[in-house]
Amino acid sequence: MKVGIVGAGAAGLSAAYELANAGHTVTVYESAPFIGGQASTIEVGGGRLERGYHHLFTNDTAIIDLMNEMGIGASLQWFPSKVGTYAGGRVWPTTTPLDILRFGAVPFIDRIKLGLMAVRLQRQKDWRPLEPFTADEWLRTRLGGKAYEAVWNPLLRGKFGAQYDKVGMAWLWSKIQTRVASRKGVGGEKLGYPIKSFDEVFDVLRAKIESNGSKVLTETTVEHVLAEGGVAVGLRVRHRNGQTTEEHFDAVLITAPSYAVPDLADLPPGYRGQLESVHYLAAVVIVLELAHPLTTFYWMNIADRSVPFLGVIEHTNLIQRELYGGNHVLYLTNYLDRKDPLYLMKPEDLLDVYLPHLKKLNPAFDRSWVKRMHYNSLSAAQPVIGAKYSERIPSHRTPVQRLYLANTTQIYPEDRGTNYSIRMGREVGRMILDDGQAAFRDWPAQAKGNR
Ligand SMILES: Cc1cc2nc3c(=O)[nH]c(=O)nc-3n(C[C@H](O)[C@H](O)[C@H](O)COP(=O)(O)OP(=O)(O)OC[C@H]3O[C@@H](n4cnc5c(N)ncnc54)[C@H](O)[C@@H]3O)c2cc1C
Repeated sequence: MKVGIVGAGAAGLSAAYELANAGHTVTVYESAPFIGGQASTIEVGGGRLERGYHHLFTNDTAIIDLMNEMGIGASLQWFPSKVGTYAGGRVWPTTTPLDILRFGAVPFIDRIKLGLMAVRLQRQKDWRPLEPFTADEWLRTRLGGKAYEAVWNPLLRGKFGAQYDKVGMAWLWSKIQTRVASRKGVGGEKLGYPIKSFDEVFDVLRAKIESNGSKVLTETTVEHVLAEGGVAVGLRVRHRNGQTTEEHFDAVLITAPSYAVPDLADLPPGYRGQLESVHYLAAVVIVLELAHPLTTFYWMNIADRSVPFLGVIEHTNLIQRELYGGNHVLYLTNYLDRKDPLYLMKPEDLLDVYLPHLKKLNPAFDRSWVKRMHYNSLSAAQPVIGAKYSERIPSHRTPVQRLYLANTTQIYPEDRGTNYSIRMGREVGRMILDDGQAAFRDWPAQAKGNR
């Protein structure tokens, strides 16, 4: 089979790997000049660093298995992580259950409620009873008052902005489950990181794909899916030299975000409606290279909406700073609507808005600490997955025959992540193989001779 794939992120490359390993010829088209999509990297202090902070949890088995299978398992290292929360005008450690009991930003009785709620959600193994509810209504009703308003409400608002009351409780449950899996035992949290950055995973994947005669083409944009009689037969592609060609394929996989798909393929209104019903938030991430550490935490939640960003992820409090020229590296992150003034702001202006607030996390902070800044914006960073989502999740097999879709809106109830894009990419790769084999069995003998 000849398969065309739109997008060289985790999903597209994993699907290509599965198909190429089975002896099929794949062409992966990537519009960006680099591979890796949302988990791609930039150069920071001579090292490679993800555009948006990236780590792995201990239950991210799909990426762990893939790295082992490709012979780079030893690159994945595990580090103790410290989580903090900025609330009530100060920073609180919030990694362990004992930390939560000491979390003085909320009255003691509410801390007990928060702790009991955390235990209840950790013990709940079936997400389906939670599916009909939004996280806002479920937590507000069960926690009530200060416990909800002081912790969960600002976190939901911080992450989802005006969409905060749309997020499904099943989504939040799975987020808690993942985090808890990495917090087994009393020692706090352990997080994984491919020490040569996520680049290594994508570079090795690409090499494996191309060693089987398939290709990964960057700066090459797919303009449209070609279809005949409701069957996908190829792609119209714009190459880096500006030329446009039509390429024939037996099957096509799109891994672009849902909002881009209706422009790429002619789809019936029902399926298009499913795609358009999911709202995406963009991420705006500023990476700072600092002369001094800002805090002692890796992950800092900001549960105070007077601070204009959602979190501070101090990468070099997890990973040794020697990999980045000895500087302290941190991310200031926000998930925003693409119309939000902060999203539209010039990088230097945004930095001016952010910097005064760093003093709240460390009063000694001074602008002179900033050696360099890097600005990244990712437009399809976070789909907002609402209540009862299982009833409207788009299928991987689209209504156009031999046209498949695998993007982050189809990961459920888990939150999107490289692990799940890899799992999904490999599954959809196998789905294409199975469908191809079934079609091959049905083809007349003469046509088989031509394949
Ligand atoms: C700020 C941030 C932090 C994150 N933190 C973590 C983390 O800690 N751990 C974790 O595991 N995951 C994390 N993630 C999530 C993870 O990066 C994504 O879930 C995953 O990389 C998505 O992979 P994908 O292949 O599904 O999509 P993408 O990475 O979006 O890949 C899709 C690709 O398709 C390409 N494309 C689109 N349209 C076309 C076209 N017409 N022609 C050609 N190419 C096209 C795009 O350029 C893109 O490269 C984070 C994401 C963000 C934004």
